[in-house]
Amino acid sequence: MSIYKEIETMHAEMRSWRQYLHQHPETAFEEFNTSSFISAKLREFGLEVHEGMATTGIVASLSYGNGHKKIALRADMDALFIQEKNKLSYKSKNNGKMHACGHDGHSAMLLGAAKYLAEHTDFNGTVYFIFQPAEEGRAGAKQMIEDGLFELFPADCIFGLHNFPDTPQGHFAIHTGPVMASFDCFEITLAGQAAHAAMPHLGSDVLLASAHLITALQSVVSRNINPADPAVLSITQIHGGDTWNALPDSVVLRGTFRCFNQATQQLIENRIRQLVESIAQGFNLEAHMSINPENAGYPVTCNTDTETAIAIEVAQELVGIEHVDLHAAPSMGSEDFAFMLQEKPGCYVWLGNGSSDGECLLHNPHYDFNDEILPVGATYWVKLVERILN
Ligand SMILES: [Zn+2]
Ligand SMILES: [Zn+2]
Repeated sequence: MSIYKEIETMHAEMRSWRQYLHQHPETAFEEFNTSSFISAKLREFGLEVHEGMATTGIVASLSYGNGHKKIALRADMDALFIQEKNKLSYKSKNNGKMHACGHDGHSAMLLGAAKYLAEHTDFNGTVYFIFQPAEEGRAGAKQMIEDGLFELFPADCIFGLHNFPDTPQGHFAIHTGPVMASFDCFEITLAGQAAHAAMPHLGSDVLLASAHLITALQSVVSRNINPADPAVLSITQIHGGDTWNALPDSVVLRGTFRCFNQATQQLIENRIRQLVESIAQGFNLEAHMSINPENAGYPVTCNTDTETAIAIEVAQELVGIEHVDLHAAPSMGSEDFAFMLQEKPGCYVWLGNGSSDGECLLHNPHYDFNDEILPVGATYWVKLVERILN
């Protein structure tokens, strides 16, 4: 029987794990129930389980034969602060929290692969199954690395997978090089002197300066970055003023920028700082700027050539050459798997979640992971292990 056919016999089981996780979503570093559910399954399969890394992270090891090669496979476990609007029998029971990015599915697929590999030792070496917390904006991957992930589990290479709405169900999209953008947030405070709205000449107007600053910031990408080098900068918040007839003494602006290489990332940050300082000076204001005050900045997620070539080969063998897209545009979204790829060579692939109908999109209250792709995802993991550890 083919690996796919055999994994398909576990489809109902994987579906039940996925739907259980969907019904009990937990957010960054609080995935306690999720983590103990996954750990219990891994122990039941006979794997050695290391818990509590980055609070709720898990690494399970499975070794066979005398091979020294070690491969790491990574799934994320966290949910989002989103109120689910689906009417599903397994709808979120945790108010205001939801698996709207499919990490429930990623965990279920990796569990399926762990179960299969524990029962079919057609490999020679070690597999590390990493279940990480806090992918959504809190850099759980970075925290696991700081907690000694690769010292305790010295993988030679690492692989990640994310479902992708509007890529056909069960098809793959695989990129050589950059696949997801870097992510940074910034906060700017402009401070001046409050004044009566009828006597603005007695103060210094932070709101007028903010308007100039927002306009000037939109020149950073359009006038400083090579048009062939994708980048985006957005101001997403402006807080200032309390009433109709007074000019406030301060205003806070927040925003984010994303791009595909470190030099561009640094250039954008430098240009923001220059504009903030010069506009503040021009309007006689004090300015303060901080980068990533609440969120962790994420680097560019960049696949390495050798591991990407292997991932492509495995995916093509699994679903057919015509169902592996090698030319999909990279995403301006970001991924903390980037931190793992800074430490180890590896590849992060997209697995089609099928048509979104405009609603089943990542981070949408109507999103739901497509259970039909559970077997293909789990089979991809198994074939990757057998390909690399043989
Ligand atoms: Zn997400
Ligand atoms: Zn995600």
